[in-house]
Amino acid sequence: MSYLLPTYANFPLTIVRGKGARLWDDEGKSYLDFCSGIATCSIGHCHPALTEAISTQAATLMHCSNLYLTEQKQDLAQILVEDFVKTPGKIFFANSGAEANDGMIKTARRFGHAKPNQHGTPRYEVITFSNSFHGRTLGSMAATAQHKVHEGFDPLLPGFCYVPFNDIEALKAAINDTTVGIMIEPIQGEGGVNEASAHFLKNIDALCKEHDLLLMLDEIQCGLGRTGTRNGWQSIYPELKPDTISWAKGLGGGFPVASFYVSDRIIDHTGTELSSIMSAGSHGSTYGGNPLACAAALTVLKEIQTSDLFANVTDREQQIHTTVRAWENSVIKKIKGKGLLLGIEIEADTIKLPQGATPALHLCNQLMANGLLTVPAGPETLRLLPPLNVTEAEVTEALKILKKTLDSLVE
Ligand SMILES: *Cc1c(COP(=O)(O)O)cnc(C)c1O
Repeated sequence: MSYLLPTYANFPLTIVRGKGARLWDDEGKSYLDFCSGIATCSIGHCHPALTEAISTQAATLMHCSNLYLTEQKQDLAQILVEDFVKTPGKIFFANSGAEANDGMIKTARRFGHAKPNQHGTPRYEVITFSNSFHGRTLGSMAATAQHKVHEGFDPLLPGFCYVPFNDIEALKAAINDTTVGIMIEPIQGEGGVNEASAHFLKNIDALCKEHDLLLMLDEIQCGLGRTGTRNGWQSIYPELKPDTISWAKGLGGGFPVASFYVSDRIIDHTGTELSSIMSAGSHGSTYGGNPLACAAALTVLKEIQTSDLFANVTDREQQIHTTVRAWENSVIKKIKGKGLLLGIEIEADTIKLPQGATPALHLCNQLMANGLLTVPAGPETLRLLPPLNVTEAEVTEALKILKKTLDSLVE
């Protein structure tokens, strides 16, 4: 019997230990981990530098409240702005992705007050996209355009409007005088590894300028090196200048930490900076940006940059593409995504499914039995999310398991 609230339909697997791209269960069986805590353990399990940074910081100072400054917090904010965005702005630290998105949504609400519509009424509506995933808090859940996430939680927080992904005409039609922002994952993770097109991002940028809207990016899953560039949008349409950006999953390499960025862009004739509208007292978090979390994130971002994991991500992506394409396997419809946020879309009628399982879940279960951990993205896509420093040999080994498993599924 379990005392855990049954919110997760978890796999029947108890994990006890991890090292690099590998996990071990309580029976001593090892698995190649191409789930990485869902794109979270970006530099692998128990990376020596990360373990060392956390241990040292834990013995020095874990927490002291945001009433005070710490070097770790200031350094991390500087790296995020100067190295990862390269456009002036400010950073707020939170503890989870949903919380960072709530902060971005609050920033949009403030912006709507600072820049009301032609009737003098504050704007508040944020447009999000079908199959998006932005989190499970009341705010981020309402931002998520998926019915199954909303089910049984009415009434939802008002102020969101959902538009089909990659549909510019529908987006244009949805903009009205309450609209204040457009929020998008450049590559949707949970929703099926769906890439926004460069054309779509370019048009969103233009629409935001035309209608004075905030361009809000959710980089929680696709950001911080996952796609082979510093952020997901840069692997699609690098010219984009986002107003706000949220990060979480890969930031702490497994230690809980999240953040959002707000640009310093001038928003009116008096020279008001966008970042200044989140003024003292407007937002907060007790744990957000504590020195322990920041020490972890500093180590992760340093490792990503100094070891040039961007190049490794691109090389391993190529390796996967080349190998999988050569199989000409009838179960695979196509490979989607960028870098090491890859989705294998399954041709549903080619495999025989047990009662109640989606094709993606069935494949995931079979792979697990064969020693490879992955995660579904929607009903028909299997996600591959190895750590950014996964080796060529580990990818070769994982692909061998994948091929063997796919071959066994064909009727
Ligand atoms: C996981 C995820 C979130 C939510 O993050 P939590 O840390 O689980 O709150 C939000 N947006 C995207 C794109 C995600 O992948």
